[in-house]
This record gives sequence, C-alpha cells and structure tokens, in this order.
Amino acid sequence: MLIKIANVSKSYPQPLLATPPAAIENISFDIKEGEFVCILGPSGCGKSTLLNLIAGFMLPDKGHIEFAHQQVSAPGPDRGVVFQEATLFPWLNIRRNIELGLKATGIKKTEHQQRIDAALQLVDLHCSQHSYPHQLSGGMKQRVALARVLALQPRLLLMDEPFSALDAETRERLQDQLLSICSQKRQTVLFVTHSVEEAAYLADRVLIMGPPPASLFNEVTIQRSHPRKRDAKELTMTILRLRTLLKELSRHVPEPEYTEAGVLPYAPTG
Ligand code: ADP
Repeated sequence: MLIKIANVSKSYPQPLLATPPAAIENISFDIKEGEFVCILGPSGCGKSTLLNLIAGFMLPDKGHIEFAHQQVSAPGPDRGVVFQEATLFPWLNIRRNIELGLKATGIKKTEHQQRIDAALQLVDLHCSQHSYPHQLSGGMKQRVALARVLALQPRLLLMDEPFSALDAETRERLQDQLLSICSQKRQTVLFVTHSVEEAAYLADRVLIMGPPPASLFNEVTIQRSHPRKRDAKELTMTILRLRTLLKELSRHVPEPEYTEAGVLPYAPTG
C-alpha cells in the first residue's frame, strides 16, 4: 500500500467551544500504488481536511496516516498538491514558476531544466513556456500548476477540486489530459471533487464522504473499458449509482444543533 489511513479524526479549534465538532471522524482506507481514487462528497464534509492531512499540512487529532510505510508528519515533495487556484507568481514566466517548486524542494540544479522540459511536455505547454501568467487562460494556468507539481515527480498527486473553477469544455479537456498523464506515468492520484460526473469519469475507485459521524460512507470500485468514453452506458450507470448513494447519505446527516454559541455545522458526537 502507498497510503494507509487508520481511524483518523480531526477538529478545528473554535472560540466559545471547549469541544469543537469533528471535521472528519474515524476515517480509514488504503490506496495502492498506481490507483486513481476520487473522494466525493458535499461541500463542508471534510474532503479538503482529509487531503491536507495526507499532504502533511496539519496533523490528525486521532489515528495514523502512513505514506510509503512512514508516518506523515510534514509536507514533502513525494506528495504534490494541486489546488483549485493555480497561485502562480505573476512576475515569473512559466518556466520560472515551475523552477520555483524545484528550488523550494531542494532538487539538484543540474536536473532543473530537464525536469521542467519533461513536465511542460506532459501538460502540452512547451509553446507557451516563456509566457507570463497574465497571458494564459484559466485552463493553461491550471496546467502550469500541474506541471509545477509533476516536475517534482511525486509518488502521490493530491488534487483538491483542481478543475472546478473552469468552464465545462476546458474541464473535460484537462480531465482527459490528466488521465493520459496517469496512464503514461502510472501516477497515483487522490482527487477531491463534489462532481459526481467527474468522479465517475476519472476514478478507479470512489470514496463517498459525508459529514461526521458518517465520515466515510461508502466505496465504489469502477470497472470499465479503456480508453474511457463519455457517452458509454457504463459511465451513465456509475453516475446513477453514485447519485443514489449520495442521496442515501443525506438521510444519514444529522440535523444542525443549535447552541448558545451559534449553529454547529453538524451535531458533535460523544
Ligand atoms: P470540504 O472540503 O468537504 O468542503 P472542509 O474540509 O473544507 O470540507 O471543511 C470541513 C469542516 O471543517 C467544515 O465544517 C469547515 O467549516 C471546517 N473547517 C475547515 N477548515 C477550517 C479551519 N481552518 N478552521 C475552522 N474550521 C474549518
């Protein structure tokens, strides 16, 4: 297993609350090398919290996260993260933006140019390598963000709703490009989304998350023919199945609890 998550819970400190409600509760799952796993769930159910814990940006309150048999205790270049916003430096061109990630993680200088070229090739942006961020479309900026992470050659690619701010056509193009990169490099991916269609199209396995205490609610493995086709009957069936499971989840969600401190997002347990 590349990742092992065992009984992980996390809450955020909140003013006026001695025991803040859990953002995620008692989550356990594994990811194998080469798998493409999507985490699907409604907004606020803790998807980003889980991804940030795996990235090592914060530590769990309870439970363990292992990456390549090592306890996760800090961020590292072996776990590259792509966010919803590309966050590029406007005064640097594309090559320099990608190089900044290599410098920050201490990759040897002699390797920089070759790694930048390979990453630009993967996202098909060689022609625009000397452009500046303001000259790029939203989709191109996200491809630079992806290239910046791919240049680090991470064993795990963590993606937090990376395409959700893009128009439908660009989003589909980038989904196909990502799948093609994954099949070329046998890249392991953990991809957070609230889009049923996106999860059904991209994933080998979908983990459905709900708010605590039903944090990890269900799991769907997707068997399909390759290459993937958007109009395939099996994709429609998967979308329907995921929708049904999400609907079922909403029946399990507890009513919000009203307290003197305000409304808790979800009733705390215990
Ligand atoms: P999702 O990614 O599914 O939208 P998040 O992980 O962002 O969910 O949030 C899960 C819960 O944790 C929400 O109730 C959210 O308000 C809360 N939360 C997230 N980040 C913070 C933070 N930095 N401080 C306090 N509460 C937070």
